Amino acid sequence: MDFKLTSEQESFKKMAREFTEKEIIPVSRELDENEEFPSTILKKMDEVGLFNLSIPEQYGGPGVDALSYSIIFEEIARGCAGVATCANGNALALYPLLLGGSEEQKESFLPRICEEGSLVSFCLTEPNAGSDAGGIATIARKDGNDYLINGTKCFITNARYAKYHTVFAKVDDGSDKKKPAVFMVEADRPGVVVGKKEEKMGLRCSDTSEMIFEDVSVPQENLIGKAGEGIKLAMMTLDMARPSIGALSVGIAQAAYEAAVTYSKERVQFGRPICKNQAIQFMLADMATEIEAARYLVYQASCLKDKYWEDRKPFSKQAAFAKLYATDMAMRVTTDAVQIFGGYGYTREYLVEKYMRDSKIQQILEGTNQIQRMVIAANILSE
Ligand SMILES: Cc1cc2nc3c(=O)[nH]c(=O)nc-3n(C[C@H](O)[C@H](O)[C@H](O)COP(=O)(O)OP(=O)(O)OC[C@H]3O[C@@H](n4cnc5c(N)ncnc54)[C@H](O)[C@@H]3O)c2cc1C
Repeated sequence: MDFKLTSEQESFKKMAREFTEKEIIPVSRELDENEEFPSTILKKMDEVGLFNLSIPEQYGGPGVDALSYSIIFEEIARGCAGVATCANGNALALYPLLLGGSEEQKESFLPRICEEGSLVSFCLTEPNAGSDAGGIATIARKDGNDYLINGTKCFITNARYAKYHTVFAKVDDGSDKKKPAVFMVEADRPGVVVGKKEEKMGLRCSDTSEMIFEDVSVPQENLIGKAGEGIKLAMMTLDMARPSIGALSVGIAQAAYEAAVTYSKERVQFGRPICKNQAIQFMLADMATEIEAARYLVYQASCLKDKYWEDRKPFSKQAAFAKLYATDMAMRVTTDAVQIFGGYGYTREYLVEKYMRDSKIQQILEGTNQIQRMVIAANILSE
């Protein structure tokens, strides 16, 4: 364990940082103000090889390892967490297929998605089933060789821009028990409707919308894995995705911390820069320490995620550690950054208020931090 990135990881970091400085930071405020979806940036990310990173090479993707993925997404989120969320949404949506799909299904969808550079959405949450994913009411009724899907999903990232949706539903095959399952659903199937767009506190350039499925007919070939495996695949997907939410949070916190250090050296009160006060120095010291600690929890979870494909060893606890600590850390760090900026921090003149807004949701999505604590406790108590 030498805590050194490989030369390949260093070059990913450099490339992602340069892209972020050039393409994202100059427009991040504007995208946020206008709630503008970053289509042009996502297209450029695809052109330079920073999109669909988690799709293996054999299916036409870059096949980037999980640690490199986290390093890259920390950099993108340092520029704008909204942009990072749009791009990262594809990884979340494709894990069910990667984890539970047959070879034919992967061959059928993944090369197309890479070729088109298309967006995919992950449709799990429903109005009455958020933390309690097992409570979903969307039904997939067996109809000969097909399934008819009916139900409403909410808070779906990339919903109105996605060409494919990964949809969780309970299979009704006429037997007593409804079996949770997951389907790939093409957006152009009749009955796939995009509903209302949410107006959000943060991640304002990302799309979060309702999805309605009205008698949507999908063939048997679009059922991923078996009926009954839906919740297991959802939970495994979230384990895969949580290190990335940690990475995004480290990126937001890093941006807030850098802004706070710079400002504290420039802002003069009582005849000297505010960074000369121990009260400010201690805030900066805590920020730097916590960012570093979160970054290593993210790296650890990412390495275990990489190993999972070889040894199939569960890493739920470490994924939850990374998500929980990094997202709570980002909330603390961005709040302190606003404090260091004083009244100016509360205005839109500086980006620290955006970092604080973008951090809040990280404690909620992909399993709230109460749910992360439940996952960690369940793991500890069964060890
Ligand atoms: C911007 C954004 C993007 C999103 N993207 C997606 C997406 O792409 N796909 C998708 O499927 N979903 C998405 N979501 C939904 C997100 O995952 C849910 O909002 C989240 O899981 C929480 O569900 P809920 O909002 O229904 O809250 P609830 O489950 O109603 O929870 C409310 C509160 O109660 C707490 N709580 C609930 N149960 C317990 C318990 N047993 N013990 C202790 N506390 C508990 C929670 O921690 C929370 O504080 C997104 C949400 C947002 C806001």
